[in-house]
Amino acid sequence: MPNKLSGSCLCGAVRYETSAAPVVVGHCHCVDCRKSSGTGHSTHAAVPEEGLKVTGELKFYDRAADSGNTVSRAFCPKCGSAILSRNAAMPGMAFLRASSLDDPDAVSPQMIVYKSRAPRWDRMDEGLPAFAEMPEGGPPIPHGAR
Ligand SMILES: [Zn+2]
Ligand SMILES: [Zn+2]
Repeated sequence: MPNKLSGSCLCGAVRYETSAAPVVVGHCHCVDCRKSSGTGHSTHAAVPEEGLKVTGELKFYDRAADSGNTVSRAFCPKCGSAILSRNAAMPGMAFLRASSLDDPDAVSPQMIVYKSRAPRWDRMDEGLPAFAEMPEGGPPIPHGAR
């Protein structure tokens, strides 16, 4: 994967770039990811906050995950595009929404979590490791409450 990722919201008011390569990239089918995505999952690329530069205003929506940890989901207040999330359990990490990347093919998803909550029509790559829920101490992907 490349060492530089960049992205934006739909209207362009929010932009970001990072010099760090993603630590992990994965699909999540939890209800929170589904409801905030427009389809049956969200795809997250976890990058260190250090080196991540965001310009423009982000609005945050905070909600407790299954674990009880707060997940803050950031979106553009003008056009509503999901940009990134932070998880209180993983300080120092930002989870970029793959949908906001300038080049979505710049990342390669490595796993699927909360597969048990996926709609039957939202089929993922069968070759990826998939977890029914969030594995114990599992992959650093922000996940939802239901
Ligand atoms: Zn926008
Ligand atoms: Zn999720």
